[in-house]
Amino acid sequence: MLIPARVQFLLQLPAPLLTAYVSTKPTGRFQHRLTPEYLIWLDKEAKAIALTLAGSEQELFQEQLGRTKNFLRTWKPEEKGLVVFAGAAAWNLVPLRLDVENELRWGRPALTQYLRLLSENKPCGIVLVDRTGARFLRYRLGELTESAEKQFVVDISQWKKSEVGHFSRAGGTKRTRGSQRDVFEHRMDARYARLFSATAKQAVNLCAREGLTALFLVGSERLLEPIKESFPQEFRARVVSIPEDLSGLSAPELQQRLEPRLVAWSLEQGAALVASLLADEAATVVGFDKTLVHLQKDKIRTIVLTRDLDAILRQCLSCNWMDRSADPRCPACGGKRSAVTLRDVLPGLAHAHKVEVEVVSGAAADRLQAEGGMGAWLRQPKQARLRRAIKRAS
Ligand SMILES: [Zn+2]
Repeated sequence: MLIPARVQFLLQLPAPLLTAYVSTKPTGRFQHRLTPEYLIWLDKEAKAIALTLAGSEQELFQEQLGRTKNFLRTWKPEEKGLVVFAGAAAWNLVPLRLDVENELRWGRPALTQYLRLLSENKPCGIVLVDRTGARFLRYRLGELTESAEKQFVVDISQWKKSEVGHFSRAGGTKRTRGSQRDVFEHRMDARYARLFSATAKQAVNLCAREGLTALFLVGSERLLEPIKESFPQEFRARVVSIPEDLSGLSAPELQQRLEPRLVAWSLEQGAALVASLLADEAATVVGFDKTLVHLQKDKIRTIVLTRDLDAILRQCLSCNWMDRSADPRCPACGGKRSAVTLRDVLPGLAHAHKVEVEVVSGAAADRLQAEGGMGAWLRQPKQARLRRAIKRAS
């Protein structure tokens, strides 16, 4: 996923500012208090940050902290989470329907967690089918909404008269009934095949129009197979079948039933991504330092990192080059360097170099962590570079 426009906007907010990811989900630890947990957390976290700040910056920090606290004291949360960006020239609120982790940062806008939420919750389509029709829904950042609806209306009244005769009556003549039923079922099958194909077409259009990465097809197994086959071959890899008849459920009930499946699917995608990253040696770089170097040299197309990855880096004040070495001088230009964290600089770096960012959790993260926590697909595979070099030399 390339850095989306809304993140680009937040990246431009003037620093220093306070970024607060606030979770409204109670953990049960402070159940008996009247103050919401997030306010207790905020106070504790703010004290830790304040200790690291010098006088003039301390004042700016306390001002934005007070402003944020005042807002949160009277806030009536309806969402699972909220991100507050508070600075001398900024006040932006991003409500989220996803579980967020409490996080308080001072300095540049802290967007790494937001990128992770976007990466783990890619928008997808859901098509619910039963014998009477299909419902089209879209799932975007924790919100399930209905889209257009397509009914499988099969009008059999005309066939009865003209071709199938007395098919529907129990007392029809026995001799001809078998063949009439064949004709009828053949017609029904043909009609359903057209409806399935129309459903598939509509689903493909929905995904293209709204940038949905995957399509979940939900219904009884008997219906799913023929519908899945109606999708164009190249699209089928994006179709995930869930063989359950959930057609009678409302959108909130559906969300409750489907969300665990979507999370599981996202984890599987992450695992597959890391597996292919580690297997595709000619096209990738793996490891913290190597990946950071290639990223800054504009050689990376897609970067993959673990959700909690962070490290202290030194950034050159004149040419911006950064790495993990403790050297106070820049290796590129000899300029002075200051300390930054990977989490602070990564979204900006990814945007500046037009790199796609994928963040992985769970087992995929453990596997990547063992390789340094980061890896990337190169814009140009190493072998191709090698072949060109050989050609030039000969
Ligand atoms: Zn430099």
